[in-house]
Amino acid sequence: MSTQPIPLADRMERIGLSPTIRATMEADRLRRSGVDVIDLGAGEPDFPTPPHIVAAAHAALDQQFTKYTANPGILELRQAIAERYRQDYGLAIGPEHVIATAGGKQALFHVALSLFGPGDEVVTHTPGWPTIVEQIKIAGATPVVVRTRLEDGFAVRAATLLAAVTPRTRAIIVNSPGNPTGALLDEAEAALLAREAARLGLWVVLDLCYERLVYDERPHRLPSIFAEAMADRLLLAGSASKAWAMTGWRSGWLVGPEAVIKAAGALQSHTTSNVNSIAQKATVAALTGPQACVTEMLAEYRRRRDQVIAWLGEDARFECAVPQGAFYVFPSVAAFLSPDRLRTSLQFSERLLADEHVVTTAGEAFDAPGFLRVSYAASLDLLKEGISRLVRFARRHA
Ligand code: PLP
Repeated sequence: MSTQPIPLADRMERIGLSPTIRATMEADRLRRSGVDVIDLGAGEPDFPTPPHIVAAAHAALDQQFTKYTANPGILELRQAIAERYRQDYGLAIGPEHVIATAGGKQALFHVALSLFGPGDEVVTHTPGWPTIVEQIKIAGATPVVVRTRLEDGFAVRAATLLAAVTPRTRAIIVNSPGNPTGALLDEAEAALLAREAARLGLWVVLDLCYERLVYDERPHRLPSIFAEAMADRLLLAGSASKAWAMTGWRSGWLVGPEAVIKAAGALQSHTTSNVNSIAQKATVAALTGPQACVTEMLAEYRRRRDQVIAWLGEDARFECAVPQGAFYVFPSVAAFLSPDRLRTSLQFSERLLADEHVVTTAGEAFDAPGFLRVSYAASLDLLKEGISRLVRFARRHA
């Protein structure tokens, strides 16, 4: 094959590859060569998909439910999603306000392509999940990123987001609970943001993929708050991935005004057509079936979160906010970096993998050098061993 560089479309100049890919590949290589790798890098639940959801998929297969479905998803699923948002948040929506998508990621992609274009600015926050910014760029719009701070628990604040608004701003995208910080948009901040966004005629997009993973009984009724002020410009991206341990099924949804849902349907009709038919049936079971599995997983995540925070807290140099949702802690490792040793958190993470065989995700992946994302979607035993190796490694380099 020729080694000549292949000219790609211009848009690829704007799209970054995740800096975590190298670490993932290296972890795979080590694992294949028999090394005992502890993976605290996972962005997905370590729990199996609950059996009643798997059973629904088996039933779909047995019934040969294996053909194309309606492009926005089967009515049963769209009704189940609408019903969930009606019950949980009091939203007055029907299936016409819902499209089933291949994960929350595709829901957000549909929003970007349907609403954003050249000349538009879209405000979002960082440290954050990199896909949001990359999708804005793919749509040809300009991401405007505001920074949340460790000292403030990485809280997303209305005033900070609004300070970044210009006449070109088209939308504000908020991820709450946030990846990688686990921070929430507080309800009072949400009310403020909703009021101002309504006044300014901005779209608000809420990435709620971790909405069921909120700890400490914190109220987090963002859809109700925003819908009350600006239902006609509100888009909600949701997902079965995290709450029901279904990352591989690729099932999520977009909820919003009919015109955007129709646009998303048009995009989907020319790309992936519909969510895999079997996953749709499984998602109906997830949404309408018993929810004890979610509560049990949440309780276990909470136990792990508290334990990981306690372990890291034994060395005050790991400055760490207590995450209020999702399944990540995001400590600063800045105290362990220096020009003549480990210079960056990326180097920290790479050397930690090479020397102690612990996978983490460097803050660079989330536009936050100096930090490390530690996923607690791993058993307490693995977390204990992984964190002890991490602390040992950091102290050796301090
Ligand atoms: N939003 C955030 C913040 C995420 O971290 C992820 C996945 O990691 C997603 C959305 C999308 O998840 P999925 O496409 O599996 O629903």
